[in-house]
Amino acid sequence: MHTTGPTSRHPRRRTLLKAAGAAALTVPALTKVASAAGQDDTGLWDVIVIGAGFAGITAARELRARGKRVLVLEARDRIGGRTWTDTYGGQLIERGGTWVEPTQPHVGAELTRYSLALEEDEPISTTWLPTPSGPRQFTPEDGFGRIGLIFDRMFEGSRTYFEKPFQPLYRADLLRSLDKLSLRDRLTQLSLTPEEELLVNGQTAVYAGGSSATGAFTMFAHWWALAGHTNQGWNDTMRWRIAGGTKALLQAMINEARPTIKLSSPVSAVYDTGSVVYVTTTSGVRYGALAVVVAMPVNALSTVKFTPSLPPALTTATSQGLAVPNAVKLWIHARKGAGRVYGQGAEGGSPIPMLLPFKETADGMLYVAFSTDPRFNPTDVAQVQQAVRQLGVNLDVIGVKVHDWGRDPYARGGWTFRKPGQLTTLYPDVTFTSGRLSFASGDIANGWSGYIDGAIESGLRAARQAAGEE
Ligand SMILES: Cc1cc2nc3c(=O)[nH]c(=O)nc-3n(C[C@H](O)[C@H](O)[C@H](O)COP(=O)(O)OP(=O)(O)OC[C@H]3O[C@@H](n4cnc5c(N)ncnc54)[C@H](O)[C@@H]3O)c2cc1C
Repeated sequence: MHTTGPTSRHPRRRTLLKAAGAAALTVPALTKVASAAGQDDTGLWDVIVIGAGFAGITAARELRARGKRVLVLEARDRIGGRTWTDTYGGQLIERGGTWVEPTQPHVGAELTRYSLALEEDEPISTTWLPTPSGPRQFTPEDGFGRIGLIFDRMFEGSRTYFEKPFQPLYRADLLRSLDKLSLRDRLTQLSLTPEEELLVNGQTAVYAGGSSATGAFTMFAHWWALAGHTNQGWNDTMRWRIAGGTKALLQAMINEARPTIKLSSPVSAVYDTGSVVYVTTTSGVRYGALAVVVAMPVNALSTVKFTPSLPPALTTATSQGLAVPNAVKLWIHARKGAGRVYGQGAEGGSPIPMLLPFKETADGMLYVAFSTDPRFNPTDVAQVQQAVRQLGVNLDVIGVKVHDWGRDPYARGGWTFRKPGQLTTLYPDVTFTSGRLSFASGDIANGWSGYIDGAIESGLRAARQAAGEE
């Protein structure tokens, strides 16, 4: 989720964007699958990809382009994983990942490749931000400008310690000590006034999954660096959506590559014999391949039995978790009246610490909001209305559409947000390959971890690994 409000609106760039079960060693019977055009359906696949999110679909496309016979096994009855284009109030909505930035290199390349356009969110008219005397209205320029000045101080030096943001450990010498800091540690170092602290701690807390104490300072600083080390760049990360939704890009990739995709096929075991890898689903169906790309969320890797076991960095990553465990995205349908208002709460305040306007509907207006509070019931309209009021925003709520990514068995978390120490202790080993087994996930990207761009980046890398190119 990438939600600091789209801020002071700078020159429009629409024109730039147009183009844009551990089995015995004996070989088990293999299951045949009706295959896409151009692929035969013999039992042994070149590559099996586990997971049909952006990472898995990217890997599948790349491997098909290398002439491989590819089977994608997906647990859900839909593709997309933590992206999910749906409808509400007559509008196309995203229940997971949404905003992309055309300067994100992998997303940008895909938009150009498939001539997909972007849609820009309409500007925000008012921001409600917390102050020591309660929520206060600011103009977007003033409110986001104040936040930006604090972020400038918070991430001072990022051009040095994240000199090459796509090589996150390029300055490991500097990052080792910084990576020990939580966001809370960094806020404390800055000796902020109470006013300043309140302007940013709701954001740092929500990105970290509910508490600034659990999120790594280097995670936010990495995003800041990837966004060009500026508040403007950072705010631009939640400004553009893919026209037709994230599914439009996924579908374009699938249309090009036509991998065989089997939905409703949760994998329970991956067994690498040393020559063939067997993949078994929870219903006991077994497939074999010369290589496997595991493109599941890292938090969910612990649900699969790997033989031999996962490499140590991934074992640690899945047990500690990389994606935040509490991550609810809400679509709030309200009667017209409040307008294009942005609300942000203080850490530990409203169970909805962030609210953004989306689009008008026939009888109201849609807002998108996030919650990381496990005690909050986001499906209860009265609770939602009360939580939004705590931000200072008065919405007359008609209904809500909610997805709880933390409780989703095939995600087990929302957006990635590393904990202190995880960057320098888990990287680069989380991008391990044995040749037969490779791992793709937006959770373990070198660049935009926690973003669609990172998922695509990881899929490209895992495909090269599975093809024996690195
Ligand atoms: C609420 C929310 C908001 C976000 N906002 C943004 C945003 O605005 N912009 C942005 O760029 N990013 C955003 N992100 C992050 C982005 O959605 C993810 O980084 C990206 O979608 C991850 O893709 P992936 O392919 O790595 O993982 P996933 O999309 O999680 O795909 C993994 C796939 O593996 C499948 N799977 C799991 N277990 C099994 C199994 N046992 N067997 C078979 N299949 C299995 C899953 O069902 C899933 O389809 C957001 C994420 C969330 C949750």
